Amino acid sequence: MPAPLYIHLDLAELAALEQVMQDRASGLIVRGPVFSSDLGRPAKLCEAVRALFAPLGDAVFIRLGDGTGSDRFLKADFAWNADPDIGGVSAEGLGRTKLGPFNRRAADANRPVTGYIFEGVIGSWIGELLGGATISATNVFACFIAHELGHQLGVGHVQAKDDIMFAWKGQTLADRKQYLRLANDVRLGFTPAQVATMKATIAKP
Ligand SMILES: [Zn+2]
Repeated sequence: MPAPLYIHLDLAELAALEQVMQDRASGLIVRGPVFSSDLGRPAKLCEAVRALFAPLGDAVFIRLGDGTGSDRFLKADFAWNADPDIGGVSAEGLGRTKLGPFNRRAADANRPVTGYIFEGVIGSWIGELLGGATISATNVFACFIAHELGHQLGVGHVQAKDDIMFAWKGQTLADRKQYLRLANDVRLGFTPAQVATMKATIAKP
């Protein structure tokens, strides 16, 4: 039985959800007015992410942290890429200590970040695709965080929209909408095969 893998989440940015705007000159997603603040949101999100990883049992410990002493460190970031089709990026998981190539943003050069989710672009998808419906930002963001951590633990994309590892890029609006609805309703989870892959990654040196 390998030692548990420690994962830290920095979700401070998600305490305040901001409206999304696109800068005309750069095309980049930029911060707009705050539409929802909840200082307790990071803790609730961490709890929701933990629930998605429950099938891994004691193999993984997930908590809020600054990455110090952790094996994996995912950070919420408003947006720093210009591609409105990317909600997150992660290193590939080749084993407990080895990770595939991953480019941190310059501001995080000295932090042990191994993955990001982009608050702004995900908020934009929620607004555009589920606009008007009652949405749990916690449930939707938890799925995107779990998806990115899934990559870090060796799980790849699938095309099925009812799978947490759904490949977002290049999909139809209808499929994206369904994925978000399932995430909102807490109906996405890791399959037994994905759980086995993650456990194998953790067991590898
Ligand atoms: Zn992905």
